[in-house]
Amino acid sequence: MHSHDRCDCGTSEKVTHKSLRRERRIGLSFAVMKICAVQKSAAVADDAAAEVVSSRSSSRQEWIHSFTALIGTHIAAGFSLTERGGAMKEQKTRVLIVDDDREIGSILHDFLSKSYNCTAVNSAAEALAALAGGSFDLIMSDISMPQMSGLEMIPHIITLAPESVVIMISGQRMIESAIEAMRAGAFDYITKPFELAQVDKVVRRALDHREQLAGLRSRAARRDAERQRLLHALNNHHFVVHYQPQVEIQSRTIVGAEALVRWEDRERGMLLPAEFIPLAEDTGLIVPIGASVLRTACAQARQWHDMGLAGSCVAVNVSPRQLQEENFSQTVAQILDDVRLGPESLEIEVTETSLMQNPEVGIQTLTNLREMGVKIAIDDFGTGYSSLGYLKRLPIDSVKLDASFVKDATSDPDDAALVMAIITLAHNLGLKVIAEGIETEDQLAFLRLLRCDRGQGYFFGRPTTSDEMTSAHSNNRSCFPTCDLRAMH
Ligand code: C2E
Ligand code: MG
Ligand code: MG
Repeated sequence: MHSHDRCDCGTSEKVTHKSLRRERRIGLSFAVMKICAVQKSAAVADDAAAEVVSSRSSSRQEWIHSFTALIGTHIAAGFSLTERGGAMKEQKTRVLIVDDDREIGSILHDFLSKSYNCTAVNSAAEALAALAGGSFDLIMSDISMPQMSGLEMIPHIITLAPESVVIMISGQRMIESAIEAMRAGAFDYITKPFELAQVDKVVRRALDHREQLAGLRSRAARRDAERQRLLHALNNHHFVVHYQPQVEIQSRTIVGAEALVRWEDRERGMLLPAEFIPLAEDTGLIVPIGASVLRTACAQARQWHDMGLAGSCVAVNVSPRQLQEENFSQTVAQILDDVRLGPESLEIEVTETSLMQNPEVGIQTLTNLREMGVKIAIDDFGTGYSSLGYLKRLPIDSVKLDASFVKDATSDPDDAALVMAIITLAHNLGLKVIAEGIETEDQLAFLRLLRCDRGQGYFFGRPTTSDEMTSAHSNNRSCFPTCDLRAMH
């Protein structure tokens, strides 16, 4: 029985309706498994549908003629499939062609063999035997064959060769129902073999897609594994908080500390925020991680107060995701209440960038916090939007001058001018300035000259454990051996 007979005669109409119902069932059962493929292949299906509308002829016999003619044209024009195929062959892409029409099968085989390692078989049963015996990257099958159709083969293919991409070859009559099945996820691609160039294109596209899917899957698997690690770390208290002293520049006293989270990973050692905050942010785990940092830091500040260490403020970094949480200010209020810390002892640090993501919500949250008495600082000031005019409208108390300005302020006149401008402007707006990344005495002297309010940096002390910070704080001594705060003038 020739394929065009099957497509055109009345009996095949019945088969088509019956198989359509079956296709839907098959499609639904694999919708989840191939969900990624479906989104992309829907576009391919639309292309295919467009091809149906515009196609002139669908008879297989005519198609075979056009195939043969096209091969001749390619050869005459010196069309170098073999050259392209050379590289492909090295990758040994294995293609299984299934078509009960031997003529079509062999034309496809001859054509695709120039680029791929092809095997052609004439029935679904032979195809399943081939799949059981070896692996294939791509299976190109006639959609309707006697005994078992291409669509009926799908569940077996999924079991035998789950990683392979499947292309269905369909005659015009079947294509619409096939598109439906494909949209539901039963298989990946569909093609009408009217032109060999199309077949070539679809095969390449399907293989590219397969590669992308494999990449996506492995990235998703890695991300999932890392997310599990983050969750495990959170549940097992592997996130620890270190503290970096903040010093009042004029009086040279420690007035507080910035809380900086670290991940104590059993296998990888101590991980810095840059290594896990982006993923935590991405997966939303930053919300519970951030809340736990906030609780730990507030409890620590309470302890410093209880020890009689005056002015023990704690500054906590808050991520954009936390800021967008509807109940963030309530979470803060609850933590302050639980640990019995006055709101004035807590400073929340947000970046300009995080405020820009959804300004209304962010600004409202900051306003609520400020009304409670919590202080707000803009972190890394100068690296984001840095709209100085915008500062005026923000409910904030201070700006943290980014370390990159401080770094060259004593050697680069432009940076010096900028630092001066920012400090002056901030003071005019009634804001305090905290300089980040102070590493040298010169930088400190320059900032003191400009009446910068607070400073932070390796010169005073690196971020350290709560115990070390407590001892440094108790003696108002720097955590940095060469810097004696008490002796500084
Ligand atoms: P940040 O808030 O601007 O914190 C200052 C960073 O500069 C810290 O890096 C600190 O160790 C480092 N630093 C301090 N003094 C100096 C210095 O003198 N020279 C140099 N070169 N660096 C200095 P760290 O701890 O790696 O944190 C990096 C960033 O991770 C932080 O930048 C903050 O944006 C984020 N982060 C830290 N802890 C948390 C947290 O609990 N939650 C959130 N959402 N983000 C956090
Ligand atoms: Mg910060
Ligand atoms: Mg910063």
